[in-house]
Amino acid sequence: MERVIYLDHASTTPTDPEVLEAMLPWFSQKFGNPSTVYSLGLTSSEAVQQARETVARLIGAEPEEIYFTSGGTESDNWAIFGTAEAQQSKGRHLITSAIEHHAVLECMKFLEKRGFEVTWLPVNSRGLVDPEEVRRALRPDTILVSIMHANNEVGSIEPIEEIGRITREAGVLFHVDAVQTVGKLPLDVDQLGVDMLSMSAHKFYGPKGVGALYARKRVKLSSYLHGGGQERGKRAGTHNVPGIVGLAKALEIACGRMAEDAIREAELRDRLWKGISERIQAVHLNGDFQHRLPSNLSIRVDGVEGESMILMLDMEGICVSSGSACTTGSLDPSHVLLAMGIPAEQAHGSLRMTLGRSTTQEDIDKFIEVFPPIVARLREMSPIWCANCICRKGS
Ligand SMILES: *Cc1c(COP(=O)(O)O)cnc(C)c1O
Repeated sequence: MERVIYLDHASTTPTDPEVLEAMLPWFSQKFGNPSTVYSLGLTSSEAVQQARETVARLIGAEPEEIYFTSGGTESDNWAIFGTAEAQQSKGRHLITSAIEHHAVLECMKFLEKRGFEVTWLPVNSRGLVDPEEVRRALRPDTILVSIMHANNEVGSIEPIEEIGRITREAGVLFHVDAVQTVGKLPLDVDQLGVDMLSMSAHKFYGPKGVGALYARKRVKLSSYLHGGGQERGKRAGTHNVPGIVGLAKALEIACGRMAEDAIREAELRDRLWKGISERIQAVHLNGDFQHRLPSNLSIRVDGVEGESMILMLDMEGICVSSGSACTTGSLDPSHVLLAMGIPAEQAHGSLRMTLGRSTTQEDIDKFIEVFPPIVARLREMSPIWCANCICRKGS
């Protein structure tokens, strides 16, 4: 297979070879169940404990505050449903933003159907939540605020520290979906003032199907999976030992090279945007340039559909995405872009490029070379594109 140019690191990343190597023994010779008491099992439970200590240290937490899960989706579900269940005698009001990942969004919608009340905070045109809006939305019966650290579609980085100060003052629990930032941005749970935080290994060059939920000691969280007594009786099920070992190893590596990766990726990302914006008319940047993940470029191209661009780029061996992987295949425009005030017909023309460790300058230059003719071809066929007037027909 020809080498693909992979510009979709926000949807997943390849497992680092060093991570894979660290995982391998735990599939075969060291296969013991960590819940058993003989030495083979003890070896496994020690590996899980060591991974827990590593993860805790890297986000400024205590080992007892780390719970291993099956990924970001489970961590988000647990934080929200576990809080709703445990705190419903205190209240039934939750606060979130309009641009959350579906793993948060759908939990909130589910709770709304079960008689909980949810305040959906707006974002500005750059995809940022105003902390003062959080303060204004707080009520005596508010049990949880859940705001993501960085948005997976437009890369905007939310003012978590400010929101954390507000929730702490009010004594309301604060959950953060940090799936896009763990391993990418420096992160300390005390400094951020968060009570719960979700992460997922496959977003930082670890394996798929394993993640963690950080929950501060004082957080009363209901058990999520019932069965054996794993994870201090809160999340039953035999530990995914290779996955957990891989998650910790991946996080260790990611934190070690965080600064240099960020600088390199931001430089390439800026080169990409410069190349695109110089060669194509009527393209726009989605989101904020300052408060933005270094690896994210999200754009919209007037007069063309995101899906068509994806398919034509794929024929050139380039992988990109239109919004999030989860909305691909549906014809609804991204809820994130709509919340930012982008009209639906423009939101349809969105494209997300997320860079990573494998991205080279040659990749970026190849993209800049093949993309303009693709846009030109699609615009020729487009019923909504008018080349001479640089506007959409009818407007
Ligand atoms: C990928 C992602 C998730 C889901 O994580 P999985 O491990 O794939 O379930 C949740 N939130 C955000 C922001 C994500 O980017």
